[in-house]
Amino acid sequence: MNEEMQEAVLAGIDPEAIARDTLAFVEVTSETGAEGEGSLFLADLLKREGFDVDLDEVETGRPNVYAKVPGSDRSAPALLFNGHTDTIPVGESTPPGREGDWITGRGTEDMKGGLVAMVHAASALRRSGVELGGDLWLTGVVGHETPVGRKEGPRRLIEHLGSGKIAASAAVIVEGPCAVWAASLGSAMFEITAASDRGPIHTIKVPYAENPARWLGELLAEFSRLERGFEALPHHPLCGRQQLNVGIVRAGDWFNRLPVNFEVTGTRRWTPGVRCEEVRAELEQLCAQLGERSGLSFEVALSNEREPFETPADHPVVELLCAAAEMVSGSRAEVVGMGLVGDANLYANDGGLTTVYYGPAHQTAHSDDERVAVSQLAHCAGVYALMAARFCRRSSGDCT
Ligand SMILES: [Zn+2]
Repeated sequence: MNEEMQEAVLAGIDPEAIARDTLAFVEVTSETGAEGEGSLFLADLLKREGFDVDLDEVETGRPNVYAKVPGSDRSAPALLFNGHTDTIPVGESTPPGREGDWITGRGTEDMKGGLVAMVHAASALRRSGVELGGDLWLTGVVGHETPVGRKEGPRRLIEHLGSGKIAASAAVIVEGPCAVWAASLGSAMFEITAASDRGPIHTIKVPYAENPARWLGELLAEFSRLERGFEALPHHPLCGRQQLNVGIVRAGDWFNRLPVNFEVTGTRRWTPGVRCEEVRAELEQLCAQLGERSGLSFEVALSNEREPFETPADHPVVELLCAAAEMVSGSRAEVVGMGLVGDANLYANDGGLTTVYYGPAHQTAHSDDERVAVSQLAHCAGVYALMAARFCRRSSGDCT
């Protein structure tokens, strides 16, 4: 794409139109589990801009939304833009509105603004007559926000990636910091239980050394030891270090009655290069040793396992986003990582799809004053458009 064409694409992005569409989208309530209206809004927006839309009911009234902008060269790389149409509960969030450069309301930053920017980017490409080589997919999914969402929308999309119904060489999720977010830790929730075969008898009958509560303390001390070990390991340059933390501890029901069992629930996060199975083995080994020393029966359960993801800095999806940011705003985008686990962990590991995020900001998501800057959305639309034009260029190379 020559400079003139780039100028034409960027000139076709209208921040005020993005602002109007984002506000209208946020005025549609689409909490996880009941996000159908949000998906339909996205579908209508795509149709209004002239794209063919496929609604894929993941559950009754809860469709994923797909639009394919067909390219002209089957051998050129295809790109997939993705976001989720559900939001966490509206709750006490600032109501939908406009305050200067800001659109307020639940779902603005996370992530209706990004989806609108994605549609406007594709629209600007089409109106400027940019011919894509590879296909460009514009997708919105349901069921993202846990615990109500069980990733059913992303998993349906992964099925289509597996069957070849949807094919792409890379994906950009249109939320997150205004930087290329190219790595996340892996994560799992763990639940460790330990049970004594004694009944709930008076503590006068049981030495403290044999009390499950004493072994609960031992387990927590072992966690401290593990944590010190993680601190000492080399930290991942983008997403930091391995972590273990505890959220729920339960044991006992009366001051002088033996607690017959205890339960410790928390989160374990690990760096790219480490696998979930290693984490599981480490916890199982720790509990086996404590079981031997205490005579208690320990059990370890992991759930919500997500392997880490990391997209190399020299992958075209990263390079082209960095370069597009420079073309739009004068400075190259940073490449960052986060501890936070998201859908890229799934698309990369379960879908085999190289994935990164690039969004307007990651500041107010899930807060009660959620908002997004129109100027940031316009920036993103420009970045998405220029990046897609280059990524999906015809293999003859005349689009660079
Ligand atoms: Zn989100």
